[in-house]
Amino acid sequence: MSVTTNIYVVLGIKLSEKVLHIGVIEPGCPHKLPAGNKFCPECGKPSEVVKNEYHPEIDWDNETFFGFNMLQGDEYSGSVYLGNIIAKLGAYDDFNDICFSVSESRRALFLKKLRSKLLPEKLWDSKAYGFWLVRVVS
Ligand SMILES: [Zn+2]
Repeated sequence: MSVTTNIYVVLGIKLSEKVLHIGVIEPGCPHKLPAGNKFCPECGKPSEVVKNEYHPEIDWDNETFFGFNMLQGDEYSGSVYLGNIIAKLGAYDDFNDICFSVSESRRALFLKKLRSKLLPEKLWDSKAYGFWLVRVVS
């Protein structure tokens, strides 16, 4: 087993990885319950249970969320980065050599695109938007 470390430059937003999960309400048992019952009179189970599921906008095959690149940082960071991967460095690349440029118009266009997608989902936070360096160990 080997460990690979990569550093990514991401133009985008840093969010809590909690946003990847949503609560889905499902019936607690197969019995038909009278409306308003919190528990089933037949089996005693709660009428509803909240199941924690991954957000349906996540595409695990392409590692995207809402169509944007999705990167999870170190296992314990609790963060997810959503945006556009600008550059990627391998473990043996010289960090001093990193060089990238993103034009002002491209940045403005991307900000508008990301914001318009995340704002209605209540996931937008302008303070969390910018260039991020993300270390990914796999
Ligand atoms: Zn029941």
